[in-house]
Amino acid sequence: IITLAIETSCDETSVAVLKNGREVLSNVISSQTDLHKKFGGVVPEVASRKHIESMNAIIQDALDKANITFDDIDNIGVTYGPGLVGALLVGVATAKALAFGKGIPLVGVNHIEGHICANFIEYKDLKPPFVCLVVSGGHTHLVYIKDYGEYEILGKTRDDAAGEAFDKVARALGLGYPGGPEIDKLAKIGDKDAIDFPRVYLDNDSYDFSFSGLKSAVLNYLNNNKQRGVEIKVEDVAASFQQAVIEVLAEKSIMAAKEKGSKIIAIAGGVAANEGLRALLKKRCEEEGLEFKYPSKILCTDNAAMIGCAAYYDFIKGYRADMTLNAVPNLKLGQR
Ligand code: ATP
Ligand code: MG
Ligand code: FE
Repeated sequence: IITLAIETSCDETSVAVLKNGREVLSNVISSQTDLHKKFGGVVPEVASRKHIESMNAIIQDALDKANITFDDIDNIGVTYGPGLVGALLVGVATAKALAFGKGIPLVGVNHIEGHICANFIEYKDLKPPFVCLVVSGGHTHLVYIKDYGEYEILGKTRDDAAGEAFDKVARALGLGYPGGPEIDKLAKIGDKDAIDFPRVYLDNDSYDFSFSGLKSAVLNYLNNNKQRGVEIKVEDVAASFQQAVIEVLAEKSIMAAKEKGSKIIAIAGGVAANEGLRALLKKRCEEEGLEFKYPSKILCTDNAAMIGCAAYYDFIKGYRADMTLNAVPNLKLGQR
């Protein structure tokens, strides 16, 4: 089965071709980061326009790299939410036009489900059930993957997403956008024990997260020291902040795996690219006798290959979208 997948939920225009859901024949990703950098964040209208400009060339590039034509495609998968409505619409309209014009079955994919499926591409023999920590720019979910396409949400953030916290703290530190990778880099040379930022566990038995208090603590620390004229060591702030985030993420994931009796913890989403989080979970999983799975960095941040994988499993289960498929900006995991 050959799947063509389209992803335009935020500021990456991406098209991929997959064979049988897990073999990536091409995964073309055109990031608009440079376009949005000067604004310090994604400007929705600018993102939509750029998706329109790039789309056709990226589809052709993905077909060429996979060495196929439109006639070889068995199904089309497209992200229809969650994300920026204008950005999503470009992908959805393109996918519907192709599906209608060429008579190819269409599947609408949940972007977060896509992030989780990046693990199936990375690990060809990985099968549900397992626990997955989804940490992205807009979401922080602890999920039990019961079966392909079947999710039980164990917990989620009550305020900021993990990636959002990284981006906001990076901005306060005067670092570039997106901030996650910048903090990750600085954290390697900083002292993670320099500043004792709060670890927010909420109730002991809760799998929910909260990062806005930590973000405020970092902002207060910066303001207080600036006012008193104390020198701020940016790398120490980065390392200490990152440590406060990843300790909570790691411990709740392990708690969830134990309760669910899962031998496997996987991670997904842009923050899953974080070297500190990967190292900590690797160590903690070894100590607890658990297997730790993490996708290559290119599969952690937004890409169409992960969407193609999710689309494949929906397709073989018989799901089909029709020409009424629309963008759903606040689509929830597990919702159709
Ligand atoms: P969502 O998937 O929730 O809709 P999104 O698609 O914008 O949001 P992703 O592409 O999954 O988010 O991830 C982008 C986020 O990941 C950004 O917040 C970015 O700062 C963060 N990120 C990327 N690399 C790293 C890293 N090495 N360390 C920490 N955070 C990172
Ligand atoms: Mg992006
Ligand atoms: Fe994403």
